[in-house]
Amino acid sequence: MSKKTYQVPRGTKDILPEDQVYFDYLLDTFETVVSSAGYKRVTTPVFEDTGLFVRSVGKGTDIVDKEMYTFNDKSNNSLTLRPEGTAPIVRAYLENGMQSWPQPVKLYYFMPMYRYERPQAGRYREHWQFGFESIGDKDPIADVTVISTAVRIFKNLGLPNVSVQLNSIGDSVCRPKYIKVLKDYYKDKLNKVCPDCKRRYEVNPLRLLDCKEKQCQPIIEEAPQFINYLCKDCHDHFKEVLELLDEINVSYDLNPRLVRGFDYYTRTVFEFWAGREGFAVGGGGRYDRLVELLGGKATPALGFAAGADRIVNELKNNPELEIKPSKKIDVYVAQLGNEARKSCLKLLSGLWDTGIAAEGCLDRGSISEQLSTSNRLKAKYTLIIGQKEAYDETVIIKEMASGNQEIYPQDQTMKEIKKRLQ
Ligand code: AMP
Repeated sequence: MSKKTYQVPRGTKDILPEDQVYFDYLLDTFETVVSSAGYKRVTTPVFEDTGLFVRSVGKGTDIVDKEMYTFNDKSNNSLTLRPEGTAPIVRAYLENGMQSWPQPVKLYYFMPMYRYERPQAGRYREHWQFGFESIGDKDPIADVTVISTAVRIFKNLGLPNVSVQLNSIGDSVCRPKYIKVLKDYYKDKLNKVCPDCKRRYEVNPLRLLDCKEKQCQPIIEEAPQFINYLCKDCHDHFKEVLELLDEINVSYDLNPRLVRGFDYYTRTVFEFWAGREGFAVGGGGRYDRLVELLGGKATPALGFAAGADRIVNELKNNPELEIKPSKKIDVYVAQLGNEARKSCLKLLSGLWDTGIAAEGCLDRGSISEQLSTSNRLKAKYTLIIGQKEAYDETVIIKEMASGNQEIYPQDQTMKEIKKRLQ
């Protein structure tokens, strides 16, 4: 019988321990920043009613038209693997009565997302996003707080060169007017644009502006800019956002081509680019109509989301960044010989029972190999049980920094280690 082997599905990957350290570091840094800004963690189900995403993200978007993992369950309900975090969180906000909580309600998440995209570097079919939402605040101060919190996250992660791309895409008053101007401009150029843009012209004209095809670039360059067509309210709102950002010294690039992919965005939209043009590590914006669209009372809101996998790739390319293992090891137990392995197991169990961070080698390896592992893990102490020590029921306690070694009876080792670690 031939042996069948399996691979991860296309566009997915295993996150192995060496990468997990980066994910842990990222989550840690992110949580420190957002919890001090008053956000609380929330986790939503991996799948939701398909209608939630169709309604909120919108027909004519890549996500809804091409990328959703949609299936019928055994009761014939149409479900979709979560492609983004905002719609589920707004669903949870409404379903759990958060409209009656003190506003704004501030929530953050770290969850996997699923999009049936063509896999390439930095683009996966399962990827992790961390993000936060502030629901119930219409003031430009909220926009600036969200943007500057995101900037702080990138800085604290050790990625200070991430640029802020900023635009306003108006509201239900000015957007239809701008879209008419944009369509008028494109009308006699449709024979020059790519096939995707011909489709966008019909179903989602704003997306004409973020097309990456070469042939469409000269047309986009000359296109009318939304910023010149904002209604008074949207104009004043955006102006104040920019002034406040200037006041707190957050630099940004005004980017008239930035429209973001989803229907639910209004007014301020932003993206965070790492180095290369258009390589977005995060993005977000205002979505003042989404709560109402999903059945609640009109509630202004905004949020930010970033792609953890892309950021981990950036972090791994940064040689100056030293990521510490997420859990520091205090004690490493090394052994040699059969009897010593048993003593090592007992010692390790005792250390773990008392909550001391310890690792040990229960395999057959040379003492020098084990000592170098202990060095690599930056353990403070290595406990060594060789054949002689196993026979004598003793343990060598080696202080790694100084190299000093002392011998203790096995039954006194725990007490001594606890004392030294205090
Ligand atoms: P979006 O809301 O689509 O802008 O996604 C937010 C962030 O998630 C993006 O800025 C990317 O960093 C990341 N992201 C989006 N799609 C993918 C994907 N297919 N693979 C990896 N990261 C992604």
